[in-house]
Amino acid sequence: MAKDNVVLAYYGELPDELAGPLEQHLMACEDCRTELETIQAMESPLASLPLVDPSPNLLAQSRMRLDDALDSIPPYGFFSRLRTNFFIWMGHLQSAPALATLLVGVGFLGGNFINRYQVAHETHPRPAGPTLTNQAQSVIGNITGIEHTPDSELVQVHYNKIVPETMEGSLDSPEIRELLLKGAMAPADGVRVNSVGLLASECKAGHECAARDDGKGVRNALLVALRYDKDPGVRLKALEGLEPYVTQDQKVRDALLDTLSTDPDSQVRIATVSLLEPVHRDSSVRRVLRTASTQDDNPYIRTVSYNALQGSDSIQ
Ligand SMILES: [Zn+2]
Repeated sequence: MAKDNVVLAYYGELPDELAGPLEQHLMACEDCRTELETIQAMESPLASLPLVDPSPNLLAQSRMRLDDALDSIPPYGFFSRLRTNFFIWMGHLQSAPALATLLVGVGFLGGNFINRYQVAHETHPRPAGPTLTNQAQSVIGNITGIEHTPDSELVQVHYNKIVPETMEGSLDSPEIRELLLKGAMAPADGVRVNSVGLLASECKAGHECAARDDGKGVRNALLVALRYDKDPGVRLKALEGLEPYVTQDQKVRDALLDTLSTDPDSQVRIATVSLLEPVHRDSSVRRVLRTASTQDDNPYIRTVSYNALQGSDSIQ
């Protein structure tokens, strides 16, 4: 009982009338002095852990270490009495903020520790399962690291989880735009058509679509889609978005000329000829139109290209 009083005294929970006798007892009893040192030894490393918003990792680690420590202690030691008294202690918690903070800090109350510990130490003990910090619906992505505690069965596996998430917001918000840029490269055809279509509408509306040299941004994404997307529907959407920049952006013009020369889809090539209309008189454009007017597989494109050349001749 004196040892229990040591614990209570340490957390300021011992009634005043028992404090004096305990002090005297401590001077005489080596056992209880050892007990006090044990608590202090337990507290000091815990106190150095951050108590404010501990990370899930830290909580998991703390729980595993605490589990381990509890397991390694003989059945009738200090911790078994701590366990027995735990629910009585819970009643004290409201009046013992320091203890509450400490316990929450080590994850004692942060999860299902108490329940888990009871299950693991039932009359028929069974091996404790792995500790999960977040059981939300998710899929394990990749394993990023494994730590094995030497000479034990304890293993810590670090991994990333893929959690399904939905974002709703304006086309003009950077977060949504970032997602659409990723969507423009998604494996699913439908997602790419949607993403590129929406990005193209932003460009046509004169919203965020600036030319950038770092290869990022909406206009670059449309150029990439026009050059490399395997779906002609996606390439047509990209063309629509690039239309306003045909006259001012050399990169856009070059991409359109490559498309007219090499795109396998005749619909895309036809759309390209008409988009090039404002720059029909450029020599580089005329060169490509001339080739298309004689060599394109599609008779309609040969005619359209020929007419485009005639039209620009008459303007000159
Ligand atoms: Zn916008």
